[in-house]
Amino acid sequence: MHTKSHPTKVADKIADKSSSLRTSRTNARIDGGETITKKAPIETVSVITLGCSKNTTDSETLMGMIQAHGMNFTDARSADAVIINTCGFIDRAKEESITTIFEAIKQKEELAAEGKAQKLIVAGCLSQRYGEELRKEMTGVDEFFGESDFENVVKALTPNFKYNLLGERVLTTSPHYAYLKISEGCDNPCSFCAIPLIRGGHRSRPVEKLVEEAQFLVSKGVKEIILIGQDLTDYGRDLSGKRTLADLLKYISDVDGVEWLRLMYAFPSKFPKDILPVLAERANICKYLDMPLQHASTNVLKSMRRGITRNTTENLLEEIRATVPGIALRTTFIAGYPSETQADFEELCDFVQTQQFDRVGVFEYSQEDDTYSYILGDPISAEVKQDRAAKIMAIQREISLAKNEAKIGTTQKILIDQAFTNENGTIEYQGRSESDAPEVDNEVFLQSSRPLQTGDMVLANIYDAAEYDLFGEVLS
Ligand code: SF4
Repeated sequence: MHTKSHPTKVADKIADKSSSLRTSRTNARIDGGETITKKAPIETVSVITLGCSKNTTDSETLMGMIQAHGMNFTDARSADAVIINTCGFIDRAKEESITTIFEAIKQKEELAAEGKAQKLIVAGCLSQRYGEELRKEMTGVDEFFGESDFENVVKALTPNFKYNLLGERVLTTSPHYAYLKISEGCDNPCSFCAIPLIRGGHRSRPVEKLVEEAQFLVSKGVKEIILIGQDLTDYGRDLSGKRTLADLLKYISDVDGVEWLRLMYAFPSKFPKDILPVLAERANICKYLDMPLQHASTNVLKSMRRGITRNTTENLLEEIRATVPGIALRTTFIAGYPSETQADFEELCDFVQTQQFDRVGVFEYSQEDDTYSYILGDPISAEVKQDRAAKIMAIQREISLAKNEAKIGTTQKILIDQAFTNENGTIEYQGRSESDAPEVDNEVFLQSSRPLQTGDMVLANIYDAAEYDLFGEVLS
């Protein structure tokens, strides 16, 4: 059952939780003048992307359209127009989005005082979710658009909008890796999650389009393609009535030049086990899976409407590990779900200890408007949620350290993400193994007797380890 809540005054609601936000908001109102409408054509644009990798690919697609319409990109202060692609997932993400919008309003007013007009556009999940309320409250923003409303954003920038002028996706990640969104939306009924309300039901992108995009990414120098979507495992069901992620993996791993293919965001219930032999057999598919489990206690999983029990989860993990030896498993949990008792939490700790995941992330529960779990309230205090999240991470730190120490003396294949100068003035390199996704997982710090380029794949001997880092020497 969905409950109806009142997401009015969203900025106030979120601002109440953040004093810094109150400050920037006050400034925005005191200084707030009338909106300046820019008459001169918009030539330069700055796109600020918040939130997850799905938002990153949305921004990249939008930037392709903007560029195709003759506009260029620059920093936020110099740009004729600023677009903020927001996130509306949980409280913390909403806070970040609102703070960023108020900072942009303030900047726009400062520029106006200097005689420079700037157009401010807010798009993405937060404005999809709370557009009406934000429009009333944030008068310094010129226009609001929902998520994936690229066409209307570009129309707001130029009077010369051309249909079918899509342009090439502008890659904003490091040139050697890119995200490939295989589906949009989600049909799962998870009680705590607002994503289906924001992004709608599950829609798979056609295989041909995805293969074409993978070929395009490789042509731009991408070596690692990271498949994303709200739920990768549901891929194909809406297209053919069958889950066809296994076939898609084969098609994309067959694209010439794909050196690493990585899977993020697999839903555990109804997991398509036919992908496991594909992961095991294909050398260029990373032995890696990100499968958010959210909890381990069957009571909590039931209330979360996850369609899975602790026992079924354990069986699935066992089968994954048996079929894909050496696979690195990443997962995320929610601490402080409304019905989580102390016993449930201890069960979760025991599960984390027993399962020895390679990577773990924890979110503190965030009560979200219009979700199924909204009616359960938010009875667990912020302190207890923080404490529970910290306890899980403390368990995981020990596990991660032990796993990293076990790699000392081994040779690992590393993809170089960047070069940097250390405190002694020597050039070192930072990279990742196939067990590590960018931005969220471990890093490997390397010394090398020969110069390396970003995107190089090298073999390195690991000589030291920390909780979340490895240290090694590149083999010549
Ligand atoms: S599978 Fe993920 S995106 Fe879909 S409803 Fe559940 S938590 Fe939300």
